[in-house]
Amino acid sequence: MTSILSQAKDLFPYTRDLRRDFHRHPELGFQEHRTTEIIVKELSNLEDMVIQTRIAGTGVVATLEGGKPGRVILLRFDMDALPVTENTGVSYSSEKVGVMHACGHDGHLAIGLTTARLLHAGRENLPGTIKFVFQPAEEGLGGALAMIKEGILSDPIPDLVLALHLWNEKPLGWIGITDGPMMSASETFQVQITGKGGHGGKPHEAIDPIVAAAGIINTLQSLVSREIPPLDSGVITVSSIHGGEAHNVIPEEVTLSGTIRSFTVETRDLLLKRFHEVVEQTAAAYLCRTKVTIVHISPAVNNDPKIAAVLRRTASELFPQAVIDQGYRTMASEDMAFVMQDIPGCYCLIGSANSERGLDAKHHQPEFNFDEQALTQGAALLVSAVYELLKD
Ligand SMILES: [Zn+2]
Ligand SMILES: [Zn+2]
Repeated sequence: MTSILSQAKDLFPYTRDLRRDFHRHPELGFQEHRTTEIIVKELSNLEDMVIQTRIAGTGVVATLEGGKPGRVILLRFDMDALPVTENTGVSYSSEKVGVMHACGHDGHLAIGLTTARLLHAGRENLPGTIKFVFQPAEEGLGGALAMIKEGILSDPIPDLVLALHLWNEKPLGWIGITDGPMMSASETFQVQITGKGGHGGKPHEAIDPIVAAAGIINTLQSLVSREIPPLDSGVITVSSIHGGEAHNVIPEEVTLSGTIRSFTVETRDLLLKRFHEVVEQTAAAYLCRTKVTIVHISPAVNNDPKIAAVLRRTASELFPQAVIDQGYRTMASEDMAFVMQDIPGCYCLIGSANSERGLDAKHHQPEFNFDEQALTQGAALLVSAVYELLKD
């Protein structure tokens, strides 16, 4: 295992240069054409790697068969950048105005290609098959589902899946590998509240959807605080409210939208059921009608405890100084959850912030940047975990 770490360290210039190249040339979801070209170019240097391109548009799947028979592990790396204007001032800043790798997916790509190189180098002794999935459009655009529809989970069917995210919420040297649900399920909602427009001075002749909206928003606040168990977690956020134009006109309609987050299916189902009831019945109390639209964005990321345990053991052997956190959860969501619905797996977080070097802006901020040492850690962890998991 220590030799894997030293091999990953030797490859650091390669990993860093790739990351910085991707960083300079960010591409939004489903538009990762240049990114795909680089991935294919790098993977083509690895003899016997079977490469499939244009999966869900810009996705790439590469399969490496080890020298010995064994199970199939899918490793997933996301590719897309965000509509953010970079403000880091680094020499390798985005050359595309308004587009930036502000989530760290440039780093994931570099980790993926480094991992491919390391596993390829030891393929004679690899007892199994590795499927490297480079996935477009993770940032809420449906890349994972699109790739699943195109068959990434068949031929061969993966026995287990692994993925990671660089995590600037935590410092370099922290690694989050949690049992069970660790990133939340996410749904968005839109509520249309319809009353009857009228004169602001004569409310009795109108039906006021603004007052109904206020009642609905207030009542929704009690769902998480009063109806789900205190040791469970959930979120209902109303993040936009639109209605009305003039000071003396009661509008016909108000629109609310927002997000609902949860970790377990039970909590999710409860929140959704009660959301509908509260919205409809509160609106009815104010004589208004409603139309509720819920869009299911992603399920929770649910780590298989057995696989997570192997990853934690691997991480603590590789990085004896590291803080291995087994209880970390976040209300962020991640479309890897769709892959992990069907196949057991583990999603881990690699602490990547370094406040002393000013590398601690949060994900999606224009100042976002991370300590590139985390790239080496990520690759070494994945490669070592693959060997450990194929042993079992
Ligand atoms: Zn993101
Ligand atoms: Zn991300």
